[in-house]
Formats: sequence, C-alpha cells, structure tokens
Amino acid sequence: MKSGGGRLVAGNWKMHGSLATNRQLLKALVSGLAPLHGAEFAVCAPFPYLAQVATELAGSGIGWGAQTLSEHDAGAFTGEVSGEMLKDFGCTYAIVGHSERRQLNGEGDVLVGSKFVAARRNGLVPILCVGETLEERDRGETEVVVARQLDAVLKLAGVGAFRGAVLAYEPVWAIGTGRTATPAQAQGVHAFIRDRLSRSDAAVAATLTLLYGGSVKPGNAAELFAQPDIDGGLIGGASLVAGDFVAICEAASRG
Ligand code: PEP
Repeated sequence: MKSGGGRLVAGNWKMHGSLATNRQLLKALVSGLAPLHGAEFAVCAPFPYLAQVATELAGSGIGWGAQTLSEHDAGAFTGEVSGEMLKDFGCTYAIVGHSERRQLNGEGDVLVGSKFVAARRNGLVPILCVGETLEERDRGETEVVVARQLDAVLKLAGVGAFRGAVLAYEPVWAIGTGRTATPAQAQGVHAFIRDRLSRSDAAVAATLTLLYGGSVKPGNAAELFAQPDIDGGLIGGASLVAGDFVAICEAASRG
C-alpha cells in the first residue's frame, strides 16, 4: 500500500559543505529540480549553513531541514540548537535518530523519542531514522531492533504525533558503504514499519511517508522507489553531487 503521505527525497549533507560549494550545489538543484513534479524535495544541511540554504532555496519549492535538534526548547544547554530556533526562521524538517548520532553521540531510544517530541512541539516535520546494524541483521534481529526503536518513540510521543511524519529505514550497514539493501529487503522492513504503526492507528499509518536510506544512487533509485511501501529516499553521499541528486529525484517523481 502506498502511503497517503506522498513522495519525498531528502538530502543529508552530514558535515560537508562550504559557502562556495553550497552555493553551486543549491543553484544546480534549484534549476535541476524545477521541472520535476509528483514528489517533494529537501536538503538537510549543517546548522551554520541553514540560513544560506533558506536564502538560496527561497521561492524554489525545495524544502530544507536540520540534521538534529535539542530535546529542549531553550535554556542552559551550551552548543545545542532548539526546534523553537529552527522554526523561528522557517525550517521544515529535522532528522531525528540518525544512526551516526545514535552511534557517535550516544543518542539512545529515549533521547531520540524526546527529540521527536521536541520537533513536533515546534511544528517541525521529524524525519525519524531507524535501522539495524549488520550484526543485528545477521542474528535475524532486524524487526526486533526496528520495533524497539519505533516503540520507544510511540511510547513517548503517542501515535497521534506520527500523523504526517516521515520515517526513514536506514540499515546501518548500507549507510555510506556502497552496499544497498535489495529492494525486497527494504520493502520487507517498510511493510513491517507501516504494519506496526497500523496496529496502533491505521489512519495515522496511512499518512506516513516512509523513506529508504543507505547508498541510494541514480542506478538503484528507481527500483527501490518502485516498491509499494517505499515513498522516497534519505540520501547521504549522492546528495552532495547535484547531477546524482537530481537523477534520484527524477526517479522519485516518475515512480
Ligand atoms: C545517510 O546519511 O542518511 C545516508 C543514507 O547516507 P548514504 O546515502 O551515503 O548511504
């Protein structure tokens, strides 16, 4: 079943960019994505560049977002950036629970849930990332891990907070490795995620946008996006190359 949430391709620049290279990339995206219809497109940039992204993308219809946010709205949290601040200057999306933050910044399921709640509280669309490591997949624990990650957020936020949310299934072993989940593997987990949310509220589950992330490239995007429960992609490395990102977005707008 395709979701009612619509199609979306979001780029995750991670910790890459400079004023000069961003300008070039954004200008190429504005012209390359202008003729495309049938899907939404967005870029998630590092905090210092969000103002530049907002300016360069103004009026283009391309959305933009942050790669994380604080679970707090304001206060003595040195170095943190809140959802309230992001919303203040027009941010739409916030990635929550990316596996790099889970692994490198010690973000556990409860903190990820609190960040999801903070995004919602401030009118941002969370892009909640879930996914298993290679060891977990090899042990046959993919669904157990994904269910645990989802249930932690469900418990904190309530199923209503998932209305119109974006979830990204990103198997950790496929991120930045050049190794993609097969369309059947990705579809299987996406169907599992939609089914799990349906058990809490079928109407809310129908509004989810489910992205696949993990080494999506122009050569594999169309086949992934053709799967019934894959609504688009969260794109890392290929989102830094204008031609590749545009080609992936073309595949989503066709599919
Ligand atoms: C990501 O950073 O979320 C990602 C999916 O990266 P890549 O496309 O490079 O695997």
